[in-house]
Amino acid sequence: MNNSVQVLVVGGGLVGASLALALAHQGQRVALVASAATLATCAPIEPTWDQRIYAVSPGNAAFLGGLGVWSRVDAARVQAVAAMAIWGDAQSHLGFAAEAAGLRELAWIVESRALQAALAAEIAATPELTVLADARPVTLDLTLSPAVLRLDSGEQWSADLVVGADGGQSWVREAAAIPLKSNDYQQLGVVANFAISAQHGAVARQWFRPDGVLALLPLPGQRVSMVWSTPIAHANALLALSPEDLANAVQAASLGTVGVLESLSPAVGFPLSLQQAQSLVAPGLALVGDAAHRVHPLAGQGVNLGFRDVRELVAVLAARPPLQSCGDYPLLQRYARARLEDIASIAWGGDALQKLFATQAPLLASVRNQGLRMVEHMPSMKRWLMQRVIA
Ligand SMILES: Cc1cc2nc3c(=O)[nH]c(=O)nc-3n(C[C@H](O)[C@H](O)[C@H](O)COP(=O)(O)OP(=O)(O)OC[C@H]3O[C@@H](n4cnc5c(N)ncnc54)[C@H](O)[C@@H]3O)c2cc1C
Repeated sequence: MNNSVQVLVVGGGLVGASLALALAHQGQRVALVASAATLATCAPIEPTWDQRIYAVSPGNAAFLGGLGVWSRVDAARVQAVAAMAIWGDAQSHLGFAAEAAGLRELAWIVESRALQAALAAEIAATPELTVLADARPVTLDLTLSPAVLRLDSGEQWSADLVVGADGGQSWVREAAAIPLKSNDYQQLGVVANFAISAQHGAVARQWFRPDGVLALLPLPGQRVSMVWSTPIAHANALLALSPEDLANAVQAASLGTVGVLESLSPAVGFPLSLQQAQSLVAPGLALVGDAAHRVHPLAGQGVNLGFRDVRELVAVLAARPPLQSCGDYPLLQRYARARLEDIASIAWGGDALQKLFATQAPLLASVRNQGLRMVEHMPSMKRWLMQRVIA
């Protein structure tokens, strides 16, 4: 059977699900290829806290609010970030406060599964959006217009635009033969949650250490979520520790800033890499989210970049003349051009910072700490950095 839509989104993670919803709300005929597990609407259960958490920018929270998704997340499980504190490895310090910039918050900390469940609930309440659950794509023909995607269920779908939102190992990107520039950091992001004896004060804290970048992000109540981006051998050593020993190690590495730590969840490690698709678009095709780019988590911007891809693509499609196809190449190039600078600055900025702090060379150690001190005393630079983080 041959079915037809305007846009076919492959991948129902946070980025793909939000894109499919936004386009359906816009009145486009959309289908979403996603696993049933991803689209389960189950709510998170206390007292467990998901180790995968995101610092969602105010701009993206507003976008999710407009989709009816943000209000579906239990507010008691969301934490505003009022300030960020960053330490170098030689007592250098850099701080950002929302209030100083006339903002209410710099970011919102939210659990991955809570956000995914909220998206799933909104999708379930949007009958105009066709969900192709548990079908895997097997072939994609972009030489035809509209493009044709065949699923392992035997179904065949034609679409003016196929969007790859299927993550870092994107099948769509490969099927479209879009080359990928990739650099494996040889690091894992070790994530775990802790109860703390002190108040976190809604501050997101980050330490650039000789063994990597340690971040403690505030969760509601006296809890924090850790992301320790560190070389694989050290990451494996952390993952092998007992919960008590891990809590002690993190407490020591964070200089006791948030008091005594107690493990709330087992630690999990995620491999880290820098990836960039050589093109975000082809005729009849676009990439969004990790399918298009993967960045170091030190800036907490991965999924934020993905949501900003979605906002741009949705805006470009909405602004097209009525008879122009969603898959029109010059139209899609407009999306790719608009996303270039944001993606490049987050990807390469994070990469440069990571490299600068990973080196043990004394000259560079001095440069990086001087650099942090300099930025601390440059209000215009701080404002510029903050604008990027909150978008
Ligand atoms: C340790 C760590 C901490 C991070 N912290 C932050 C943070 O604080 N803030 C932030 O903004 N970002 C953060 N990130 C980055 C963030 O996790 C990613 O950028 C984000 O999850 C990407 O979302 P996505 O929807 O593009 O891809 P994914 O989450 O990878 O989703 C892709 C979806 O596509 C599906 N899929 C894959 N292949 C197929 C196929 N062939 N057919 C159909 N479906 C398919 C998958 O099942 C999945 O559901 C962090 C990353 C790491 C590793």
